[in-house]
Amino acid sequence: MKNFVSLERVGQSYGSGRNAFVALRDIDLSIAQGEFVTLIGHSGCGKSTLLNLIAGLVPATEGVLLCAGREIRGPGPDRAVVFQNHCLLPWLTCLENVHLAVKRVFGAAEDARRLQERSVAALRLVGMDHAARKYPREISGGMKQRVGIARALAMEPKVLLMDEPFGALDSLTRAHLQDALQEIVAATGTTTIMVTHDIDEAVLLSDRIVMLGKGPAATIARILPTGLARPRRRNDLAYDARYLECRAEVMDFLHGCQEELQPAVA
Ligand code: ADP
Ligand code: MG
Repeated sequence: MKNFVSLERVGQSYGSGRNAFVALRDIDLSIAQGEFVTLIGHSGCGKSTLLNLIAGLVPATEGVLLCAGREIRGPGPDRAVVFQNHCLLPWLTCLENVHLAVKRVFGAAEDARRLQERSVAALRLVGMDHAARKYPREISGGMKQRVGIARALAMEPKVLLMDEPFGALDSLTRAHLQDALQEIVAATGTTTIMVTHDIDEAVLLSDRIVMLGKGPAATIARILPTGLARPRRRNDLAYDARYLECRAEVMDFLHGCQEELQPAVA
């Protein structure tokens, strides 16, 4: 598979001069088309920063970021973002929320009927077409998150970027959405980069798990290819030797040998 997203020597500092804070440094990462990568690491290590750099929401202070061979210079419809909190507009229905994004991306080229079809199809993809006319306040947190994912997918992004998208949900809803996401990604082939702090979620979903060391000046400490066959079913994985191995490796990283792995900070 060819490289689709690539980061070369990427670093990010906030502020300037004496007050400069180096969040990330020397990030080298290449992600193939259709790959599912998770970013994991301690709170404050720079996971969201890295995702925001790829989203183009924050310009990198060091290095080069490429998506589909082009330099990332700002946000674009080729990279859709799903945040932990759904960010739906409260005065629009679920369908209207999705439609707004669809119109922005395809409005110039397609007629109203086609735009409507796209919006409905996206809601159907996440099993939310029944709530098309409901307002965000009328549905549960898990449902809102589904609509947020539908809105992102409706843009047919080349890359789906998710920042702890299931972090605020109860474990059962979370498991449902993980399964739904697996199916959607398998069907659409969307390249996905997801921030999580949940080890099981990382191993269940990822082709590779990128472990970030502690900040400040955090960098990639380890990359673990999971090597697990797809489709993956959580019940089968519970007894899978490779799954348990991956789980143990990430656990060791997060809870154990942080100090020796952490490169010296100048
Ligand atoms: P994570 O998502 O891994 O919890 P973040 O990427 O949010 O971490 O933050 C990484 C570090 O950068 C933290 O120390 C945080 O305080 C700092 N940081 C993030 N955003 C800003 C900002 N806009 N200005 C200054 N510091 C920031
Ligand atoms: Mg974060």
